[in-house]
Amino acid sequence: MIKILFAAFEADPFVKTGGLGDVAGSLPGAVASSAYDIRVVLPKLSVIPEKFVKKMEFITTFSVPLCWRKQHCGLFRLKHKGIVYYFLDNEYYFKRDRVYGEYDDAERVAFFSKAVVESLLHMEDYVPDIIHCNDWHTAILPVFLREQFMQIPDLAKIKTIFTIHNLQFQGKFPSSVISDVCGLYNTPAETQLISDPGTANFLQGAAIYSDAITAVSPTYAQEICTPYYGEGLNWIFNKRSDSLYGILNGIDYKVWDPASDKFLPVNYKEDSLAKKMENKLLLQKELGLKEDPDIPLFVIISRLTEQKGLDLVMHLLPKLEELPLQLAVLGVGEYHFEEAFSYYAHKHPEKFAAEIRFDNGLSHRMYAGADVMLVPSRFEPCGLTQMIAMHYGTLPLVRETGGLKDTVDSSKGFSFEAYEPEALLDAINTALDVWNDHKRKWVTMQKKGMAQDFSWKASAKEYRKLYSNLMK
Ligand code: ADP
Repeated sequence: MIKILFAAFEADPFVKTGGLGDVAGSLPGAVASSAYDIRVVLPKLSVIPEKFVKKMEFITTFSVPLCWRKQHCGLFRLKHKGIVYYFLDNEYYFKRDRVYGEYDDAERVAFFSKAVVESLLHMEDYVPDIIHCNDWHTAILPVFLREQFMQIPDLAKIKTIFTIHNLQFQGKFPSSVISDVCGLYNTPAETQLISDPGTANFLQGAAIYSDAITAVSPTYAQEICTPYYGEGLNWIFNKRSDSLYGILNGIDYKVWDPASDKFLPVNYKEDSLAKKMENKLLLQKELGLKEDPDIPLFVIISRLTEQKGLDLVMHLLPKLEELPLQLAVLGVGEYHFEEAFSYYAHKHPEKFAAEIRFDNGLSHRMYAGADVMLVPSRFEPCGLTQMIAMHYGTLPLVRETGGLKDTVDSSKGFSFEAYEPEALLDAINTALDVWNDHKRKWVTMQKKGMAQDFSWKASAKEYRKLYSNLMK
C-alpha cells in the first residue's frame, strides 16, 4: 500500500475560497483505494464550521521551530467520508477572519509547512511515502524536508509532489524570510529561493526541490514552460520537463448533475432537453431579462479578474448591444469590470444582467438556464465552468488555452485562439450562426458535451499512476 499525505491550505467542505478547495475536497476521495492510503492535512483555521471542529479528536501537541521561534502546535484528527484528515492548530497563526491576505502570510504558511513535517514525528504508526503539496501555501514544505530533516531516515525517504493550481500566485516575500522565518541560513535554499534580487519565492523552491511537479491540465503543463505563461519560472519547468506532468481536474458529479441538482427549478437529462428551456425562461425572469426562448442567453460565471479575459468582453460590449443575444454575468472582482457590466445591465435590462456577488444557488440555475458559457481566459490552468456547462447542455465558448483547450473541441463548443476582441467576436458570430440556422447541430453538440465523462475517475487514475511511478 502506498501512503500519501495530501497537504493543502483549504479543502471543501472545511474551508473553500476557490478551485484549490474543490480539488483538495474531491481528489483524495477519488484516489483512495485498498492500494492507496491517502490522508489530508490542513491548518485548523478558525473559519472551519463548528460542526466539524466538535467532531475532531485531539491527538497531541508538539513544538515547531521556525528560526529563533518555537511555536506550539496541536494535532487533531477527523474521519470524514472515509478519508482521514489531520488538522494542525495554532491560534496565533490560524485564528483570523481571512484565510489568506494577512500581513504575515509568509510566516503562517512556513509554520504550517514545517508543522506538517514535524507532525510526522508525533503520529503513532504513520509515516507517508509521499507528501503531495499544493500551490504556494505548501511550496516551502519540500525545501524544509530536504534541508532540515534528512538526518531522520524515515523522513529522508519521503518523496514530494507539488501541484500547481495557478502559477500566477507564487508566494513572493522579502528575502529576509529565508533565514529569519524559515531558518534556512547556510543552506543552498538561500540562493535557490531567490527569483528576483531581494525576493524569496516559495513556489520556485517547490519547483526546484520536489520530486515531481504537476499542473492541472496537460496544455497548462506545456504552457508554463514558455515565457508568456511561465510567470518568470519557465526556465525551471523546462529544465525539469522530465518530472513535469499535466493532469486534468474533474468535477464532482454529486454536486453538479442537472438530473438531481436541488437548486434547479426543473431537473433534466440528455433525453429531456426541453426541460432545460423551462429553466432558461425562469432564469430570464429571475434576472429581469426579456423572457424569450429564441434569443440565445450567454453567461459568464467567474472571478472578475484580468486572467479571465474580461477585457476582451468589455471591449466588445458596444458591439454586443447590436447582436441578437443576451448576456448575464455572475461574479465579483475588479472594480472596472463590475462597473462596466453593471452599466450595460442598467442601460439594457432586457438584454444584459450583472449580478455582482457570489451566489452558489444562482450559479447552478445559470449553468442550467444558459445556452452559451463564455470563458475567454487569457490563461486557464484547468477551468471548471466550461466542464460544468457541458454537463448541463450549455455550449462553452472558450479561448484555446490551458484546460479550456483540453476539454472543449468543435464538436462540443466554440473556440478562438488569438487574444483579441475580433477573434472572440468571430467565435460569438459562429455560435449565433449555429443557433439561428443549424438547430439540429446545436442539439447534437449539447448531447455530446453532456455525454462526456468529466468526473474525477480518469484524473484519479493518472494520480495513482504517478504515485506508483514515484515509488519505483
Ligand atoms: P478559478 O478557480 O480560477 O476561480 P474555476 O473555473 O476553476 O476558476 O472555478 C470557479 C468556480 O467558482 C466554479 O465552480 C464557479 O461556478 C464558481 N464561481 C465563480 N464565481 C462565482 C460567483 N460569483 N458565484 C457563484 N459561484 C462562482
